[in-house]
Amino acid sequence: MEYEFEKRRITGGIGADDEYWRGLERGEFRLPRCAGCGRWMWPAHFRCGACGSWEMEWHRTVPKGTIYSWTRSWYAFERVKERAGDVPYVTALVEIEGAGGARVMGVLVGDETDLRVGAAVTGEILPPTEKAKGYPSIVWRLADASDAVPSPV
Ligand SMILES: [Zn+2]
Repeated sequence: MEYEFEKRRITGGIGADDEYWRGLERGEFRLPRCAGCGRWMWPAHFRCGACGSWEMEWHRTVPKGTIYSWTRSWYAFERVKERAGDVPYVTALVEIEGAGGARVMGVLVGDETDLRVGAAVTGEILPPTEKAKGYPSIVWRLADASDAVPSPV
């Protein structure tokens, strides 16, 4: 499926996050940071709430972090009926490592055995699909336990 960014802009969106979607389209995970004071801003805004600057810089960021919150959908709601075949599925809100507390939402894929708040995850950018309403998307996967730093006992 060909991604048509300008035709598929998020309904009701204000366009401040356009660079996020353009980044995903190129396979890049990018988040905005104020050029004036350096504050990370997600969701994206046109103007910094901390210093008032209108200048944003979009930084290519490693899509990894920890689960801040998550929920399991047991029903195929009308606005996401494309995911009816996936029910039940988990959506995670992930606090991105090194991005000032920015939290990015996405569907969790793969093994859910260690699913919990605080669990480490890595993101994978998917090309546009019907399930994602024609947008590129990021999905989260629990980080391999073998990658975790063992806790001192
Ligand atoms: Zn600022």
